[in-house]
Amino acid sequence: MLQSKGYAAQSSTSGLAPFSFERRDPKPDDVVVEIAFCGICHSDIHQVRDEWGGSMYPMVPGHEIVGRVTKIGKDVTRFKEGDLAGVGVMVDSCRVCDNCKAQEEAYCEKGFVGTYNARGYDGVLVHGGYSTNIVVNERYVHTLSARLEPKLAAVAPLLCAGITTYSPLRHWKVGPGKKVGIVGLGGLGHMGLKFAHSFGAEVTLFTTSAGKEADARRLGADHVVISKDPDQMAREKSKYDFLLDCVSAPHDLNEYLGLLRLDGTLCQVGLPEKPLPVNAFSMVTNRRSMSGSMIGGMAETQQMLDYCAEHDIVSDIEMTSVDQINQAYERVVKADVKYRFVIDMETL
Ligand code: NAP
Ligand code: ZN
Ligand code: ZN
Repeated sequence: MLQSKGYAAQSSTSGLAPFSFERRDPKPDDVVVEIAFCGICHSDIHQVRDEWGGSMYPMVPGHEIVGRVTKIGKDVTRFKEGDLAGVGVMVDSCRVCDNCKAQEEAYCEKGFVGTYNARGYDGVLVHGGYSTNIVVNERYVHTLSARLEPKLAAVAPLLCAGITTYSPLRHWKVGPGKKVGIVGLGGLGHMGLKFAHSFGAEVTLFTTSAGKEADARRLGADHVVISKDPDQMAREKSKYDFLLDCVSAPHDLNEYLGLLRLDGTLCQVGLPEKPLPVNAFSMVTNRRSMSGSMIGGMAETQQMLDYCAEHDIVSDIEMTSVDQINQAYERVVKADVKYRFVIDMETL
């Protein structure tokens, strides 16, 4: 077995603390990645605190992982020792269902294996990236262009926040001539702004935080609406083709559905712990659609990473040491992070 050190939660109320554990020895098609940086996603916090139910402990969170390959199995073809590598939200899927064959592993019919808080198909609990190393089948590891190396820490959040916003913006063909709203300026939201702007859309940020306006414009917003101000919201009614809702906490979806023009779509990516009630009138008016999207497939994630390398897009990060994770969580919950915490694993 491979020795690993990390930070784990032992229960929904324990917070995170140092933890030693073992990972499997690499199989012939596995790579071992020594982790350099790992992002802190709000999904880590939801799961550590068991806000979605069913959390499994001990839990080493982290699914925005970048590092270097230190060992490869004998059948590995896409990596060699010393290569940069990225691991995101999944580490396995069935590979044979219709959705896996269509390169939509996030919607694997058997259920993909999450990077942490999940059991592999062999029943073993798997641990994530707040740790020194990880062992993953090479099919679920991404290559990283050398162009991304100088900003490696800021690349980590692309593995979840990046693909989770890139995928729906591509799926709903956001681009020139489209009026698009991004709701919530956190880790996902700030990547949503960058991509929507880069794809050529006219972009509005909807935020509860008046203090984020200048940053929003720098990140790609053409307009900023303070969502707590009813007059500002009323002026946006029935104007939008597409809204990407990146909010982590309960909020009124009907207010946002009301912003969609004829045949507009609201796509939910934020995952608050409680249901979000929708009024039927919000939907039938303007023949609106309500949808959702989960991360993105392996091929699309690679496309997104390559797009980011080509267009010089990375995340805006605050670096944190591993012993400050609990404090970082508190700031994320208060919507006070600019705009993603990344853990420097050298501090472990
Ligand atoms: P985050 O960095 O905490 O950002 C969430 C943002 O939501 C905050 O910055 C804030 O933006 C807004 N917000 C927070 N509380 C609010 C409230 N009470 N009312 C209105 N707005 C509020 O979180 P994240 O890492 O971007 O993740 C966002 C959500 O997406 C989480 O629920 C996460 O679990 C989920 N997620 C889903 C997927 C997927 O595959 N679908 C993947 C990753 C994450 P403002 O300050 O601008 O208002
Ligand atoms: Zn995530
Ligand atoms: Zn499958």
